[in-house]
Amino acid sequence: MSIIRPTTHFQGTRDSLRPLERVETVRAAAEDFRKNMLVGPKVKFYKTFELIRVPYPAKFGYLNAISLPTPYIHICNKLFVIQFNSDDGLKTLLVSPSDWEHQYDTPYFKHMLEDTGMFAKPVEKLIVRIKNTVLGALAQLGLDPKDVDYITYDHLHTQNVTRWLGGAGEAAIFPNAKLLVMREEWEGAQSLLPWQNQWYCPGGINGVIDDRIELLDGDVFLGDGSVALMRTKGHTEGNHSIVAHTDQGLLVTSENGVSMDAYAPEHSTIRGLAHYAKITQAEVVLNGNTLEVGNDQYISMIQEKTVAGRYPKDERFFNMALSSESAGYSLFPGTAPTIRMGNLEFGTFTPKLKSATKNKRGGLWRKLLS
Ligand SMILES: [Zn+2]
Repeated sequence: MSIIRPTTHFQGTRDSLRPLERVETVRAAAEDFRKNMLVGPKVKFYKTFELIRVPYPAKFGYLNAISLPTPYIHICNKLFVIQFNSDDGLKTLLVSPSDWEHQYDTPYFKHMLEDTGMFAKPVEKLIVRIKNTVLGALAQLGLDPKDVDYITYDHLHTQNVTRWLGGAGEAAIFPNAKLLVMREEWEGAQSLLPWQNQWYCPGGINGVIDDRIELLDGDVFLGDGSVALMRTKGHTEGNHSIVAHTDQGLLVTSENGVSMDAYAPEHSTIRGLAHYAKITQAEVVLNGNTLEVGNDQYISMIQEKTVAGRYPKDERFFNMALSSESAGYSLFPGTAPTIRMGNLEFGTFTPKLKSATKNKRGGLWRKLLS
């Protein structure tokens, strides 16, 4: 059986011309999807790593809902290492490996730091909190970059993929990995409108050769079905969510929302969110920096939270393990989410036998870490 298996489960669920009808059709399909996935196998290993915390405009993070004077929230970028079974053996997938050391040229962040002029360096030190790098996290785990089979991002904002996969004269750091990406996101990133290109890292996908990229045209299951990639357009046109079956149920990763509060605003203690939910009856609050497809984003967030189900530790919220989760910060008072997923780890990590020998380790890996 192929490792990447398309599914038509959500096909046609957004066809109605009536948006509220689309919400209900998608919700019903999502409930079904959840039931089916929960009777299937679990991933063998799942672990998150905090990489970096950066400021992000509050007005984008909680579109139309937040009523705090604080201009920023603090966003924590996370890496997810997932291992799943397949007919071809155990596969290792990295979700959201943000090469943040090489993403500073993303115009929005570049301009934000430039605007602080002579204070740029001290301000940067204060507001950018470095926790780890992708290669640092892999080294901690004992995962050789050669053993990464797939990488994926819910969307390509700020990402620099070329260094990982090679291209434009650079050798690949993950020489055996393929990028799983929606065709729309990949094509879109090569032809951006002015307000979109503020969020994409210049040259971030330059020169990557075609056979390192797996273009997806819709939802897929990976391997034994313990991981799914669901097309959830909204935050970007080619957005997708990652669903992983773990000991904590189905964990859904996305950036359509920036915190668990965004998926249950009626229970949020962040000023403005519960009030917004009450007066509008909105079930979710959008992360809306570019609003590429607003109605779809709303529907996608309902799809995501329905598939995720309730968060076992607090059932008012949903099991959303966000790739860029608002973390709260004393310098941005009032922005701390009501609840945070925090770091997660399930199952047992298995290093690949073929590269677990002394000879195959080291080399490039060590050089990159030194
Ligand atoms: Zn984004």
